[in-house]
Amino acid sequence: MMAQYLELKAGYTDALLFYRMGDFYEMFFDDAVAAAEALDIALTKRGKHAGKDIPMCGVPVHAAEGYLLTLIRKGFRVAVCEQMESPAEAKKRGYKSVVKRDVVRLVTPGTLTEEALLEPRRHNYLAAFAEVRDASALAWVDISTGAFHVMPLATVRLSPELARLSPSELIVSEAKEPEFFELVSDFGLALTGIARSAFDSAAAEKRICDLFNIATLDAFGGFSRAEISAMGALIDYLEITQKGKLPLLRPPQKESETRSVQIDAATRRNLELTHSMTGGRAGSLLSIMDRTCTAGGARLLERRIASPSRSLETVIKRLDAISFCTEQRRLVQDVRDHLRKVPDLDRALSRLSLDRGGPRDLAAIRNGLAEAELLSSQLASFELPDLLNTAAKSLTGHTDLITLLDSALVAEPPLLSRDGGFIAEGYNDDLDESRKLRDEGRSVIAEMQQSFVSVTGISTLKIKHNNVLGYFVETTATHADKMLAPPLSETFIHRQTTANQVRFTTVELSEMETKILNAGNHALEIEKRLFESLKTAILESAAQIGVTASALAEIDLAAGLADLALAENWTRPKVDNSRAFDIKAGRHPVVERALAQQSGDPFIANDCDLSASNTDANIWLLTGPNMAGKSTFLRQNALIALMAQMGSFVPAASAHIGMISQLFSRVGASDDLARGRSTFMVEMVETAAILNQADDRALVILDEIGRGTATYDGLSIAWATLEHLHDVNRSRALFATHYHEMTALSGKLDGVDNATVAVKEWEGEVIFLHEVRKGAADRSYGVQVAQLAGLPDAVIARARVVLDALEKGEREGGATQKTLIDDLPLFSVSATPAPAPSQKSEVEEQLKAVMPDELTPREALDLLYKLKEAV
Ligand code: ADP
Repeated sequence: MMAQYLELKAGYTDALLFYRMGDFYEMFFDDAVAAAEALDIALTKRGKHAGKDIPMCGVPVHAAEGYLLTLIRKGFRVAVCEQMESPAEAKKRGYKSVVKRDVVRLVTPGTLTEEALLEPRRHNYLAAFAEVRDASALAWVDISTGAFHVMPLATVRLSPELARLSPSELIVSEAKEPEFFELVSDFGLALTGIARSAFDSAAAEKRICDLFNIATLDAFGGFSRAEISAMGALIDYLEITQKGKLPLLRPPQKESETRSVQIDAATRRNLELTHSMTGGRAGSLLSIMDRTCTAGGARLLERRIASPSRSLETVIKRLDAISFCTEQRRLVQDVRDHLRKVPDLDRALSRLSLDRGGPRDLAAIRNGLAEAELLSSQLASFELPDLLNTAAKSLTGHTDLITLLDSALVAEPPLLSRDGGFIAEGYNDDLDESRKLRDEGRSVIAEMQQSFVSVTGISTLKIKHNNVLGYFVETTATHADKMLAPPLSETFIHRQTTANQVRFTTVELSEMETKILNAGNHALEIEKRLFESLKTAILESAAQIGVTASALAEIDLAAGLADLALAENWTRPKVDNSRAFDIKAGRHPVVERALAQQSGDPFIANDCDLSASNTDANIWLLTGPNMAGKSTFLRQNALIALMAQMGSFVPAASAHIGMISQLFSRVGASDDLARGRSTFMVEMVETAAILNQADDRALVILDEIGRGTATYDGLSIAWATLEHLHDVNRSRALFATHYHEMTALSGKLDGVDNATVAVKEWEGEVIFLHEVRKGAADRSYGVQVAQLAGLPDAVIARARVVLDALEKGEREGGATQKTLIDDLPLFSVSATPAPAPSQKSEVEEQLKAVMPDELTPREALDLLYKLKEAV
């Protein structure tokens, strides 16, 4: 057995091998050590190899999915090895022969299909990146739904696309250079290097044609060599992981970068589109917008949020669909009631195609298609807008299949086909006959017990069943003597004596047992055969079922967004190709929801007008104290534009958005310890990306750029950045800053306006009004905010003194820091003895050598410790 194990394991060195032994998957050697730790299960040992104990651990087969999920989440890949014959069959081949085993599947993050392993409302993408000469391309599939896409993509553009799709696994050629691996290391995906040969575009073309059973790829439109190579590599990888069994994929759809608004990784993170900063779905825009009733609808919403459209026609069509739904409230409620009963058609289909489906998947197809038919008749009497009309037409055409499944399946079938019981009575005569025999047999046995009781005169005698003995007659030990002696011993054959019971059989009983067993087995075989034929019938219509599933998702999303709009008072945005950007009474949907849940405070709606003529810039420079609501205002306007272009209503009294092509959002100096880069450096790299890329169709929001460095440096950088945005990029932009000096720019640059978030000062404290007004903030109220944050009173009092002195100095002009410091009364004379001027202390020397801009936060902290030691 070990020889067999080692041979199999040799083929999967980079995966854990789940080696099937009876009711367990066992792991050995290093696999066992790693798995035991990852799963927190006992590590034992079994036998010896090369004179050493063999470490071993195992998980029960019935609970394997849970363990598998943990291992995949922790970054392992798992090769599942099954027994390919029963031990009895192995014995037939010869004494001591080992049961045949083989790996049936390699489980990786990108190739999951099980319901328990997947998030129902999210896609699970597997992507491949390929380069052929100067061109490169990205292809991606979700094998749990069959979605298959490809697009040309330059290497430098890979990172924003990965951020958009967030695939769980990316395949590249193993020959890729190490820098590439660093490039994608931020995305929390599994990076899998596969043989270069898998990317060969000629072989790839053949693989694609074979998969879709077409003679030439032209059937799907033209593809570049790089695109073909990426798609081919994906298929090759699926063949390896699924061991030749290919999932049902839809024909590849070609995408292009110009179809959706370009949003880079940092902007996505920042705006918390589909994930919140903490990584989960909760707190993201997606979580607020999701009122869909089906998993397919939820996945469509995720795709829409991730890729807002740049086609005006598409946006208008989607908005029309929502408008219709908001007007037909009754209809929409009915539609949603139907949708709630629609199971996940895509994923059921995918499991069936991979031979991982069960009777419930058959029932899911039946129920889903039946609801779709009902929906279609419900919609029939309405004059539907384009998008819904097309969708409604795709809901029907499955009558035969529904009738077949309806007559064949019981109402609520069991999960597994193994134990039968899912085919309805009256569907198949042979099956009914076998089941009757089996059930009759069972009642004959019940009658037999009666007759045995009267023959023996033992009233407590019972006929029982277990897996070892089958059916048997059981009496207590006290009555056994009677049974063991003639004449009863002529009928009752002794089988087993336990502590309290004695067990017998009779010829009659074992004959009946054989009959029941045969009938039961026969019934099971018939059910298995019927399962296969129903499955085939479904897979033959797979393409049409897929179309219906997409239509259901489309209707669900429109109805869900309409429901949201009505409940939250959202309005239809006016979207066109102008350069308008005029939002009246806009709100931030996530902050609004949080306020309602936490404090019950109302959200203060605010206007924003960045409308610009042709190619001019229009920039609002937003000042105001911390905590006033600057970031919220910035983000809400970006989100509203994005929601409008994904084709949704928006949280505002009105909104007029001229289509945007790119969306950029940056926040000054957020710590980035994980990457070990100085926060200021990150901020500058990101700002550079915007200034290099943004065009006059971009929307840019910059929050406190320049905060991460010394005051004058920061101010100068912020100043120059704003000028560049205005003069060169000519974007529509919102720029929040605490450098009041910058408000002077509005006088100098035509397209720059000042705005401020209003606060009120009352008895020395600030009150945040969260109202955005035209004009500049008078001061920053930093000390008041610090007071709110709970800084000790002594510090606040001292800060006021320092601030007064600094402001006085500024007013009188020319005050150097030196004179200021001389003027200020010391905080505590005894605690700060002045060093003799000529002698520079060691700490001073060290401080002088420090270049703050070059320090990572970690180094800064270490330095602080060192300095502290020196005093
Ligand atoms: P800033 O960027 O100016 O420091 P934030 O935008 O982070 O301020 O806002 C601070 C807090 O103020 C938010 O967490 C929110 O609770 C509240 N807030 C912001 N804007 C509004 C608003 N328009 N209406 C009500 N509360 C708001």
